[in-house]
Amino acid sequence: MKLDVNVLRYLSKDDFRVLTAVEMGMRNHEIVPSELVDRIAGLKHGGTYKVLKNLLKYKLLHHDRSKYDGFRLTYLGYDFLAIKTLVNRGVFTGVGRQIGVGKESDIFEVAQEDGTILAMKLHRLGRTSFRAVKSKRDYLRHRSSFSWLYLSRLAALKEFAFMKALEEHDFPVPKAIDCNRHCVIMSLVQGYPMVQVKQLQNPETIFEKIIGIVVRLAEHGLIHCDFNEFNIMIDDEEKITMIDFPQMVSVSHQNAQMYFDRDIECIFKFFRKRFNMSFQEDRDDETTEVEVDENSRPSFYDITKDANALDRELEASGFTKKEQNDLDKFIEGGMEKNKDSDEDDESDDEEETVESNEEGNLSEMRSLQLQEELELEIQQWHHSFCNLVKAQRDYIQSLTGWLRLSLFQFSKNPLARSNYESKIYSFCEEWHLAIDRIPDKVASEGINSFLTAVHGIVAQQAEEHKQKKRSDSMLKDFEKKAASLRGLESKYSPYSVPEGRKKNPVIEKRAKVEFLKGKAEEEKSKHEKAVSVTRAMTLNNLQMGFPHVFQAMVGFSSVCMQAFESVYNQAKCIGEEQEEVKRLLP
Ligand code: ADP
Ligand code: MG
Repeated sequence: MKLDVNVLRYLSKDDFRVLTAVEMGMRNHEIVPSELVDRIAGLKHGGTYKVLKNLLKYKLLHHDRSKYDGFRLTYLGYDFLAIKTLVNRGVFTGVGRQIGVGKESDIFEVAQEDGTILAMKLHRLGRTSFRAVKSKRDYLRHRSSFSWLYLSRLAALKEFAFMKALEEHDFPVPKAIDCNRHCVIMSLVQGYPMVQVKQLQNPETIFEKIIGIVVRLAEHGLIHCDFNEFNIMIDDEEKITMIDFPQMVSVSHQNAQMYFDRDIECIFKFFRKRFNMSFQEDRDDETTEVEVDENSRPSFYDITKDANALDRELEASGFTKKEQNDLDKFIEGGMEKNKDSDEDDESDDEEETVESNEEGNLSEMRSLQLQEELELEIQQWHHSFCNLVKAQRDYIQSLTGWLRLSLFQFSKNPLARSNYESKIYSFCEEWHLAIDRIPDKVASEGINSFLTAVHGIVAQQAEEHKQKKRSDSMLKDFEKKAASLRGLESKYSPYSVPEGRKKNPVIEKRAKVEFLKGKAEEEKSKHEKAVSVTRAMTLNNLQMGFPHVFQAMVGFSSVCMQAFESVYNQAKCIGEEQEEVKRLLP
């Protein structure tokens, strides 16, 4: 797909507002009804429809009238939202060429302000791929409510969390820079996938290094699950980097051994074929060339493994268990589905819970969106403020430099400066000094600390939102089980224990329902607590943040006033040359 980022420049604030509104609507609608887009966007009368037309023109949205009049984001639209956010955060400034097309991703180069090139991976889950296409389709038939948007975001989040964790444990992976929506920014690996390599100086060393990585991963509780020549990069110095982590699983996964053996087998197979390495364990091959001892194929059972590492890393990144399950199920193509089990069916209904609470969610979403907008505005304010000060400094610096050159350097007789020239020059120097001394750092830090205060509120609000989802789903679970208890109660009388059963099913169920009730109440009270924390934090952060930022700005303005006044007074003193000087002022 073509990613024409030039379009970004033509998009207005309202365009992004409507695009974000469609994104929000897609949290619980495959196709977002036009009126809902309009309500979330909250533009002035009729504004949304004009913007929608524009977004359709650039193919950022898709118009669907099959069931009702509505819109959905295209991958391009989602790309733009992520890119815009990352550019606003200052992560990079421009998008370059495409450097990779993965099975379910597109990889581009992006450039930072100082010219550093990074890699941007845009996840595209749900794009037709050769990875378990059939089972995936079967799987999706059961769960049409799973959107590619949701899955791609999860894949990016998981990949980012792992890349960071693996780097901290000294695994050779790209450096994780940032992540937004379905997009991961990482350092650019200098090299090429192993699959392109025809010759190695030291195939045995590389082979051992790679097998060593698989073993060490397992010791840390992880299995890559797609560890092959496509996902191992190598550079001219034969340095290895492993990439591509969304499908990683824990060593406690029920098929862990199979995945582990498969990763190992991929490496053995590749080295056997590509570099003619042979291993003693191939019993029918008598002519062993490379001495790899029979026990060299690592055995999953012999490895001492830290089975909880994966859960810990993901939890730390804010990835919930449910999200992990959703993603794993998709990636594994429904292999491990045990959908019929009593325990597993609740997650299927979550989307409905969200649906039925639409009105409540709408105002919550709008509030979140407003907070995010506020954060963005402050960021831009900070950016503009810094630019403003820098532009003034640059202006006066060039003016003084230019004056110095034209008045003195090129003058035939440098000693013969007129009084008039000297006065203009010293006026400019004074001005230069005054601007150099203005306390812009204090003011920009003031804006920044306000930004931190608002960011804190946004993060807390997101946390509260998550807790609400948890609480809603727990309540629903409880209600479902309570209804089934009522069914059981009407079937069995309180004292009749069915023949051959040691325990009374009603009592068992009741205990379970009681337990769930406790859990639901616990989650509800956690949510209520989160709400009050949000309130207190909003009040507190604003109470502290506002005076601070105003103080900083007032202080800054009064110093500026004084500085400019003293420069101006000096200019007035110049007397008859005053008219000339005025012309230099911007
Ligand atoms: P997928 O999950 O779709 O397989 P990958 O992460 O494996 O995606 O990336 C696909 C291709 O993009 C890789 O084979 C590699 O050529 C290139 N690539 C990915 N990440 C980087 C990176 N950080 N630096 C350079 N090239 C990369
Ligand atoms: Mg790959």
